[in-house]
Amino acid sequence: MKTKLGLLYGGKSAEHKVSLQTALAVIRALDLEKFEIHPIYINVEGGWIKGPQLTGPVENVMALEFSQGNQLSLAPSLFQADKQDQQPLDVIFPLLHGPNGEDGTVQGLLELLNLPYVGNGVLASAAGMDKVMMKNVFAQAGLPQVNYVAFIKSEWEKAKEKAYVRVEEALGYPCFVKPANLGSSVGISKCANRAELEAAFGEAFQFDRKVIIEEGVVAREIEVGVLGNDDPECSVAGEIVPKMDFYDYKAKYEDGDTALIIPADITEEEYGQIKEMAIRAFKALDCSGLVRADFFLTKDGKALINEVNTMPGFTPVSMFPLLWKHTGVEYPQLIERLVNLAKERHAEKQ
Ligand code: ATP
Ligand code: MG
Ligand code: MG
Ligand code: MG
Repeated sequence: MKTKLGLLYGGKSAEHKVSLQTALAVIRALDLEKFEIHPIYINVEGGWIKGPQLTGPVENVMALEFSQGNQLSLAPSLFQADKQDQQPLDVIFPLLHGPNGEDGTVQGLLELLNLPYVGNGVLASAAGMDKVMMKNVFAQAGLPQVNYVAFIKSEWEKAKEKAYVRVEEALGYPCFVKPANLGSSVGISKCANRAELEAAFGEAFQFDRKVIIEEGVVAREIEVGVLGNDDPECSVAGEIVPKMDFYDYKAKYEDGDTALIIPADITEEEYGQIKEMAIRAFKALDCSGLVRADFFLTKDGKALINEVNTMPGFTPVSMFPLLWKHTGVEYPQLIERLVNLAKERHAEKQ
């Protein structure tokens, strides 16, 4: 019997367009002998629209941006295979990045509906989305990382000078100011002095009520993919070499000038250290399905964890699928593995 797979994509998020590309790639990779594909599009206004079941090839993303059709409320009916078939879909694959998708909210809805879904659960998604929470968990797990401080907006507005002095005393320059809950480098600035720090706070607070400020490190950027549930596996390592000052939004999505080197040219010992830390981070956050774990590797060979992404970029040219390809898992198999992991996790909960 075919698996009725609901693909949830788009989303009310700065990463909407990325998600559409991912959906197209996943649809193209799915074996129609094994899967019934049920697209569910979330438009930029946050409306959920269920498209027709896809039975053949899809030309481009425009064919996926439904403007008409079953505009549905967030009721369980959204997750039925179709009007005649009152059965729910078998598995949902949330191909969503950032807030309202990667942060546990959608996962919570799917939990309530008792539907199997790909990837991380509510807790891991929420904790992974909030860089402050994530780093607190990493600290508790004894994972080496850069020093950081955090502020909420009202705290900063009441005592800006005090906030800047705190950053300068605790971290110094250069430092990185980031919205706590975001991805794709949106709202992130590197600061070399007080004037830049002030501007960076203003920028980051446009995206979130909480910001994190981190000590800037000079290091190579190494990433690995982790795949599994209770007994996860780690991929080979990849290195990101941005042409820009850092791996910002433009480098990620606009000029594509950044080199991804897979496998990364690191020593066995460095890889061993990164692999062990990636699995420890996965377990510390109680992850399931997948994460991409991002590291800094300093000149003296010490790995610092930067973050994990609970729904990493997932097009065939994104780092996570490429890492698995080099580890021996092709893109269509990777999708099937993730769907099976979702089923297994769901079965364990029943
Ligand atoms: P994504 O989810 O797309 O990976 P993100 O928005 O969560 O990105 P980070 O990965 O935290 O953002 O940071 C983006 C980039 O900024 C990093 O890949 C790195 O190039 C640079 N960067 C971030 N923090 C630091 C730091 N503490 N020291 C040096 N460089 C940093
Ligand atoms: Mg991230
Ligand atoms: Mg991200
Ligand atoms: Mg990152």
